[in-house]
Amino acid sequence: MPYAEVIGDPIAQSKSPRIHRFWLDALGLDGEYGRTPVTTADLPAYIAERRDDPAWRGCNVTIPHKIAVMDLVDDPGGVRNSIGAMNTVLRQPDGPEGAGNRLIGTNTDAAGFAAPIADLDLAGQHATVVGAGGAARAVLWALARLGVERVTLMNRSPLKAAGLMSRFGLKGDVVPLDAPLAPTVALLVNASPLGMSGQPPLVLDLSPLSEDAVVYDIVYAPLETPVLAAARARHLATVDGLEMLIGQAALAFELFFGKPPPRDQDAALREHLNA
Ligand code: NAP
Repeated sequence: MPYAEVIGDPIAQSKSPRIHRFWLDALGLDGEYGRTPVTTADLPAYIAERRDDPAWRGCNVTIPHKIAVMDLVDDPGGVRNSIGAMNTVLRQPDGPEGAGNRLIGTNTDAAGFAAPIADLDLAGQHATVVGAGGAARAVLWALARLGVERVTLMNRSPLKAAGLMSRFGLKGDVVPLDAPLAPTVALLVNASPLGMSGQPPLVLDLSPLSEDAVVYDIVYAPLETPVLAAARARHLATVDGLEMLIGQAALAFELFFGKPPPRDQDAALREHLNA
């Protein structure tokens, strides 16, 4: 039976198996989507073993392998030079005679992030992003593609943040986590783990934001993070982390199983995941 899986360390918390199972069942497709813990030391051996497994369609990749896995695939596409982090590996069995199985890589996080805000006209706008880790790379790359004019990047380590701003050719500034928000901000994104279960909350004073500002938290556990709760209390539009999670999974699902998932069932999927 064809199968895909998510790998990482730790991986027990991943919601991806439940998302893909929901879609496989909804479409009546034969297939499995599992979770496999893979340590950093074991990553090369895992990839080498799966490469020769004809049932394996590929995998999603999460912390801490999104950068290391780029060196283990045959074709990292443009990911290395664009986002610089990979979250999906695909096995292509039908290469030219004698070429063997090819592994190609891509990143569905950026498109998954961008989809829920596709209707906002962000061209020429000012966005503030919190965090400069792996997820922030996908967020900043997507914002550059959406034509955002200026980014304020809030991060604990300013040098790391400045490096990402320069990598993505973004204009703007790097500020500490306690800097006040500017009233010009059209979109505020939390792309850090702050607010996630077991992490300190993200504490921001949202009062400078205009009533049209949108607050987007990519953290999905819990679904209502402190910053989203504060935004809702101010009647600001919000986007939660499940939107991005489902969006990036949908792109990977089609690549693994050859059919688009039934996105008209998103409400039922969200209910299933929150149950
Ligand atoms: P990561 O690489 O570990 O993020 C590190 C970033 O967070 C760095 O900028 C780091 O600051 C900052 N940070 C971490 N702990 C901090 C603390 N205690 N105080 C201040 N800053 C802190 O993680 P990631 O892969 O980017 O993921 C970030 C979050 O996004 C996670 O909660 C993850 O679950 C979520 N996520 C969601 C989706 C989705 O589909 N919804 C997809 C990917 C990730 P320094 O630079 O100073 O170290």
